[in-house]
Amino acid sequence: MRSQRDRELRELRNQGKVMECVGQHPASHFFLTSGQYTSFREWRFIHRARLNELPLNARPGCSRDPRCRRCGQSNETLPHVLNHCMRYSRWMVERHDAVVERLKTTVAAEFSILAENQVVDDTLLRPDLVIAKGNQAFIDVTIPFDNRLASLDAAYNEKIAKYQGIVQFLKQTYSSVDVVPIVVGSLVRKK
Ligand SMILES: [Zn+2]
Repeated sequence: MRSQRDRELRELRNQGKVMECVGQHPASHFFLTSGQYTSFREWRFIHRARLNELPLNARPGCSRDPRCRRCGQSNETLPHVLNHCMRYSRWMVERHDAVVERLKTTVAAEFSILAENQVVDDTLLRPDLVIAKGNQAFIDVTIPFDNRLASLDAAYNEKIAKYQGIVQFLKQTYSSVDVVPIVVGSLVRKK
């Protein structure tokens, strides 16, 4: 019965978009049993957001003017509010940087941090973290909207392709270089 309910939820045209992603990793639900690191305000927000039940102007079935109440530029959809509205760009950067900061704390014990949001070679790209231990790895964080699993996979592959130039550059110094994209959905965690 549980797997049937799970399947039915993911097959829903609207709600299923996020749930398909949420179901990928147990950490996506880490707060459900204990409420740890989560306020009541966030608790109420996350469930309504995951089910696309927030009272947004452009949600399905709403008859209001669909434009965003903050910027007036685009339709006020969930992806717009969480990932695209320029009025929220400062918070989006803070959200991204908070994830980088957590990663940095975790890897600092074992790896040396070579660069943080710095240009590494002449491509002028700035990966979030470049870390090394004997050989070397990149870490880079991206936070796409959880629009079906394909959107998270696309974000992952995009990062791999983007940093190939830097991989070649670092291979002059290190025998093994890997791009390790950390993809964190706005409403979920993947890898
Ligand atoms: Zn907006």
